[in-house]
Amino acid sequence: MKEKKASLLLIYTGGTIGMKMNPENGTLCPFDFSQILDEVPELGKFAYKLDAVSFDPIIDSSDVEPVIWQELADIVSRKYDDYDGFVILHGTDTMAYSASALSFMLEGLTKPVIFTGSQLPVGAPRTDGKENLISAVEIAAAKDEDGHARVPEVCIFFNNRLTRGNRTTKLSSDEFRAFASPNIAPLAEAGISIKYNDPAIRKPSDWNSPLEVHEKLDTRVGILKIHPGITPEVVGDILCGSSTRAVILETYGSGNAPSKPWFLDIIRKAAGTKILLNVTQCFSGGVNMDIYANGKALKESGVISGGDLTTEGALAKLFHLMGNLGDNKEVKRLLTENLRGEM
Ligand code: ASP
Repeated sequence: MKEKKASLLLIYTGGTIGMKMNPENGTLCPFDFSQILDEVPELGKFAYKLDAVSFDPIIDSSDVEPVIWQELADIVSRKYDDYDGFVILHGTDTMAYSASALSFMLEGLTKPVIFTGSQLPVGAPRTDGKENLISAVEIAAAKDEDGHARVPEVCIFFNNRLTRGNRTTKLSSDEFRAFASPNIAPLAEAGISIKYNDPAIRKPSDWNSPLEVHEKLDTRVGILKIHPGITPEVVGDILCGSSTRAVILETYGSGNAPSKPWFLDIIRKAAGTKILLNVTQCFSGGVNMDIYANGKALKESGVISGGDLTTEGALAKLFHLMGNLGDNKEVKRLLTENLRGEM
């Protein structure tokens, strides 16, 4: 029997991959999607059915807002039955935030949703965009011997590595190796062939279960990066202001912060009404508030451990849980559970 051609939907949101130089002012500006595909004729060599949709307007990803994630989740859910996989072309600046958000918004995925982009525009002679796009497409189409998607997860493919979206963080603004997944190994690596790290890839418990889309997000989250010299005024403004329901504390090392009484007083006061989530400001590793007295003081003051969540993952998880739950206690409980492989 002839195997069915894989069908993929490319969703173009913008980013450097699709930009070109504006000769008038020397800045990079987005250009039309059809021009990108013209730049990558190699895609025609795959026996896939490739369709494309483009955002209008296309954006620099530093303009990404939750409404863009809702639009992406909506496109994936409306087209879910028509395609075997999805490739999202996105700017690198906020790609890790968007991939983290989509991982929580799309529950029970049985198909790949692969974000990619590039550091150099696809029309530039030394572009990384072609390689990234071609391999992302191949991964989105890949099936195992049972005909199931090889990677039914929200991922980022960049510079030969496929990483879990909600584990990934932007590493460099000028190297081709723009992303890293510091706390877990890549889900696949592209060399002469694409090698999948099967034990690390999450699979649905039931391949026939329908996709559940959670579009509601509560964005009342602040992020406080702890630093030497931080003042009671700054900490108080961020932790006790009326505009936040949750604050992510980016702490030192394994989750430590100053032990000064004024600091802990503010933490205790805020923890009475808000969700305080502790993530490390280190590039790798995570929070364990039982190691040092300063960490323990935070734990005893009501701060929740974010384990080895990235800040992007923590933000997305809070937006998602708070958007769907009115009760802070329940949000706090679920923050400590691994929902999408994010911890
Ligand atoms: N500013 C661009 C963006 O995020 C950077 C990139 O794509 O690499 O859209």
